[in-house]
Amino acid sequence: MPRSASLAPLFATAKMSLRDALQRLDETGGGPLLLVDDAGRLQRMVTDGDLRRLILAGCSQSATLDELPTGNPITASMDTSIVDLDALFERGQVTAIPRLDSAGVPRVLERRDSSGPILLSTPHLGDLEQKFVKQAFDTNWIAPLGPQVEGFESELAEYSENGQVAALSSGTSALHLGLILLGVKDGDRIYCPSFTFAASANPIRYERAIPVFIDSELDTWNMSPAALERALVRDKARGTLPAAVIIANLYGQSADMDALISLCDAYRVPVLEDAAESLGASYKGRKSGSFGKLSAFSFNGNKIITTSGGGALCCDDEELIARARFLSTQAREPAAHYEHREIGFNYRMSNILAGIGRGQLKVLDERVRRRREIFELYRDALDGVEGIDWMPEPEGYFSTRWLTAATFSRDCGLDRTRILNGLQSVGIEARPLWKPMHCQPVFQAYEYEPHSENRSVSDELFESGLCLPSGSNMSDATVLRIAEQIRYLAEG
Ligand SMILES: *Cc1c(COP(=O)(O)O)cnc(C)c1O
Repeated sequence: MPRSASLAPLFATAKMSLRDALQRLDETGGGPLLLVDDAGRLQRMVTDGDLRRLILAGCSQSATLDELPTGNPITASMDTSIVDLDALFERGQVTAIPRLDSAGVPRVLERRDSSGPILLSTPHLGDLEQKFVKQAFDTNWIAPLGPQVEGFESELAEYSENGQVAALSSGTSALHLGLILLGVKDGDRIYCPSFTFAASANPIRYERAIPVFIDSELDTWNMSPAALERALVRDKARGTLPAAVIIANLYGQSADMDALISLCDAYRVPVLEDAAESLGASYKGRKSGSFGKLSAFSFNGNKIITTSGGGALCCDDEELIARARFLSTQAREPAAHYEHREIGFNYRMSNILAGIGRGQLKVLDERVRRRREIFELYRDALDGVEGIDWMPEPEGYFSTRWLTAATFSRDCGLDRTRILNGLQSVGIEARPLWKPMHCQPVFQAYEYEPHSENRSVSDELFESGLCLPSGSNMSDATVLRIAEQIRYLAEG
């Protein structure tokens, strides 16, 4: 298991000869050995210096580690926080600390694998962002708009398989303009997933439209075609069909677009795709974020690529995107003086941030590869732990695994809150899955269509699921350490 080699305990027993111990130290790059008793309990650490001192004192190389004085090693427990561990490394000036589990069996943590709290998803910049930003500085193009914005728009259009892109100040502003471009007005009903981030739903209320929340399905965790169909049938009969359907693709994975879009087409309801979490993913060979009549991306700081804050609205219709650009720059009519016939917004992306976006787009596929690798590390390291299930990736779907997401089964004795708190208390940031919109105080008065009469999938996911740290700049050792902590909490 080369991947976890750095975490493999370097065990020795009292029966080991000095010669063998020296050789082991040599092979393992000098890290201390852990002297354990027959039950695997730690007795002391053994360093190269300890062995040399014995030899200098006249011990032969065939003497055993029994000759060593009893030790008093620096140890920690599996419940010691990352911050306290870092303090122990500092105080003891050691490169590895064994952490004793509840049975007293040590697991080694190396200092190079420990550095402060572990966050859910942090920005990860490449080499080119500074070059593009410098271009903006060098040409004094700090004011909004300029060549970096145009470059970013055409490069994102090409990557995301969209004809047209408007670079905007956030994913939320992209969704808001998307609704406006679809003609949504006061009192219109808009279908929206219940299982999503509030930013999918908030823009509905900006326009005083009425959200109707639709449940998820278990196969994708995204919008349930069964619930969507039931709502459409009912609303058609009542004469209250929605003005638009927002479909979100969560945690890096597309919704079941064939099923959902054919339903929306059949009822002639346009789709606004919230692809804020799925840039880089694909569905049946086509890029996520190219399925809606309009689609929105986000470049917020925690997304798979970031401009520190930003978003984009995409579609194939040049006129719609021209209008998005117009509305996002205060709806200024082409006149030397400032002429306005409509209410506009200040929603455009700045030239500086677009420069960062161009650099980030170049590393996007690399980031996707790493996020998927991180997911696989978790899955393999937690293989065999009863009751952990990963977000499914059905055949034909390609998820970015933006966040590694899992559910923890109560039936197997696992409680996601206990695991969440256990991780939090040692300095590892995990999060529950999105709390459904129909359960949010601000939205609970609106209608909700569950997956089936007696099953609400979004409630089940929220109650049992967690997102794990998934930043593409995490090392393998960090992921394995988190997995080890989860295994300890799950089995402990
Ligand atoms: C992040 C996110 C948004 C909003 O994007 P911002 O750029 O933060 O405004 C919208 N929908 C979903 C599902 C998101 O995860």
